Amino acid sequence: MTQKLIESTSRQFSFEFFPPKSAEGAVKLRETVTQLGQLNPAFFSVTFGAGGSTQEGTLKTVNDIRAMGYNAAPHLSCIGSTVESIREIVHRYRDAGIRHMVALRGDLPSGMAMAGEFRHASDLVAFVRTETGDHFHIEVAAYPEYHPQSRTAQEDLKNFKRKVEAGATSAITQYFYNPDAYFHFVDEVRAMGIDVPIVPGVMPIGSFSQLARFSDACGAEIPRWIRRKMEGFGDDSASIKAFGLDVVTDLCQELLEGGAPGLHFYTMNGAGASTTIWQRLGLS
Ligand code: FAD
Repeated sequence: MTQKLIESTSRQFSFEFFPPKSAEGAVKLRETVTQLGQLNPAFFSVTFGAGGSTQEGTLKTVNDIRAMGYNAAPHLSCIGSTVESIREIVHRYRDAGIRHMVALRGDLPSGMAMAGEFRHASDLVAFVRTETGDHFHIEVAAYPEYHPQSRTAQEDLKNFKRKVEAGATSAITQYFYNPDAYFHFVDEVRAMGIDVPIVPGVMPIGSFSQLARFSDACGAEIPRWIRRKMEGFGDDSASIKAFGLDVVTDLCQELLEGGAPGLHFYTMNGAGASTTIWQRLGLS
């Protein structure tokens, strides 16, 4: 890969975590935040388990990161929730001085039958705007390979537009390994008159089996050539990691050179892969 210096100051870089499940996990996350904090990201974000399962953990993790001196944005997913419970969380976020959130529908955990009082992320975005006006910078999810539950690509695009019209400030995409899907998606939404920044979500590749599991669940395609190469490495995790770093660094470079307004890394609470990709990209 040819190494070029990519100018990073005008772009938005961010890193996503999930709330740690144990005391050791919390210690490890602190180390990760310290390491990634040196890269001076725009913000860290922290996921929110659908149905409110991580409600306290999400807010605590966000507040811990903010106490370390960094911007942090909680996610909020609305499926399976009542209006009252979402109102309470939105006000807690606001009262804590949080100005940035990622608003999602979420997916119902298996066995949970109640869809709740919000059907779509656009309902949540509209609700947050009604409750708190312009207080929050609201990110929403975007799907360059289209959401797996959408009946057609065209419908999914219209539904994405609904979220923006409801008041979203910018979007972060589901991860993908085919940059053409991203560029095509951006062209399509621009043609629909949507001008919010659409930041690519980037999933570094650590383990093939884990990636295959995630991708099956969220509908992200692993291109055949990547899948076959990974399968060929068998249990050789060093080769999988090395190949994964090459693939994802090349992807990021192509995205940034093609005009992507930044990158959002799905870190799985570790700093290693994102830092290596960052350094290889020559980001300042
Ligand atoms: P929506 O925008 O509501 O879309 C979901 C589906 O409904 C799509 O098929 C869409 O086309 C359709 N739809 C939307 N509006 C309408 C309408 N008005 N009429 C008919 N159909 C409609 N999940 C979590 O649980 N917690 C997290 O913290 C979390 N963080 C995420 C962060 C990012 C950056 C991304 C990309 C995803 C994240 N997810 C998270 C996963 C997300 O919740 C799932 O992908 C979920 O299936 C869809 O959420 P959404 O907000 O995109 O939903």
